[in-house]
Amino acid sequence: MFNLNELLRPNIRDLVPYSSARDEFKGEASVYLDANENSLGSPLLKWYNRYPDPLQMAVKEKLTTIKGVTPEHIFLGNGSDECIDVLIRAFCEPGMDNILIVPPTYGMYEVSAHINNVQIKKVPLTPDFQLDLPAMEEAVDDFTKIIFLCSPNNPTGNSLHRGAVEALLNNYFGLVVVDEAYINFSRQRSFLSDLQEYPNLVVLQTLSKAWGLAALRVGMAFASKEIIDVMNKVKPPYNINQASQELVLKALDEVEQVNEMIRVLVEERGRLERELPSLKIVQKVYSSDANFLLVKVRDAKKVYQYLLDKGIVVRDRSSVILCDDCLRITVGTEKENSELIEALKQYQ
Ligand SMILES: *Cc1c(COP(=O)(O)O)cnc(C)c1O
Repeated sequence: MFNLNELLRPNIRDLVPYSSARDEFKGEASVYLDANENSLGSPLLKWYNRYPDPLQMAVKEKLTTIKGVTPEHIFLGNGSDECIDVLIRAFCEPGMDNILIVPPTYGMYEVSAHINNVQIKKVPLTPDFQLDLPAMEEAVDDFTKIIFLCSPNNPTGNSLHRGAVEALLNNYFGLVVVDEAYINFSRQRSFLSDLQEYPNLVVLQTLSKAWGLAALRVGMAFASKEIIDVMNKVKPPYNINQASQELVLKALDEVEQVNEMIRVLVEERGRLERELPSLKIVQKVYSSDANFLLVKVRDAKKVYQYLLDKGIVVRDRSSVILCDDCLRITVGTEKENSELIEALKQYQ
């Protein structure tokens, strides 16, 4: 059975979190002399002299209307990369516990584990980029605290079969993190609606991709209240700065504009999926649920350099397992995509 207190590192279970001035006084006052801020103001907007809301309640309330998940089930990180780090730090004892990842996948799970001196078990995806459940079951041991899944997966672009993820959620009693950074581009439905059912589920999303706000560094984790409480205890007190909180609040009012961008990008993804395979150097275009395509070419390193010489930078993934001779190409504007196709056409 899933037992949060047993899964947690003992020092985190017993941790008394930092209590900030904003934690200790939450009401409205006319004179704030409690946080050693600059009482005279700031060289920028006047209120930038004040510390931001440590729990970002205004942003979370707006997210509730968009995601249908209440604030106590939402954690905000300085990018979802911070969510990944906080989860590993809260649950994995350095030098003892491990995480399981399924390459080829997003690189930060491994880096974050290394930084925390947490061991990494790897079970590669099958050749069609799906979970190898028997091998995963074999690999998991008593010290495996977190399984990181990415769906749609980076760098392959496909979604994982829902049934396989559900099998893990039902039979594995550590945390199952489903990274949905690209969910807005996907044909598959999110795992957000399954939070009630699975106490061991953590869903990661981000404002960096479909929302077009990579520079603001805001990622989201959705989970049970108990898991979110632990993450809030471990995070730096003011991890989302005031400017980001204000700008995100404004951006979240523009759902329609974002949906229109998603529509255009998905349409352009379709055009690339149709047009790239007819080029001589393209061997395969993998089907994508994301805003990028994994493309197998003849001699990826050469093609990469050729494109670079033309001023077009893509990602060379050819050294990644199961991605021999593959480039990862982000869907650009209509004009950028035409430029890419034209350049590849001219390649000799
Ligand atoms: C881009 C990406 C992220 C990073 O998100 P940030 O919120 O910008 O830190 C997380 N996971 C995956 C799979 C990504 O591709």
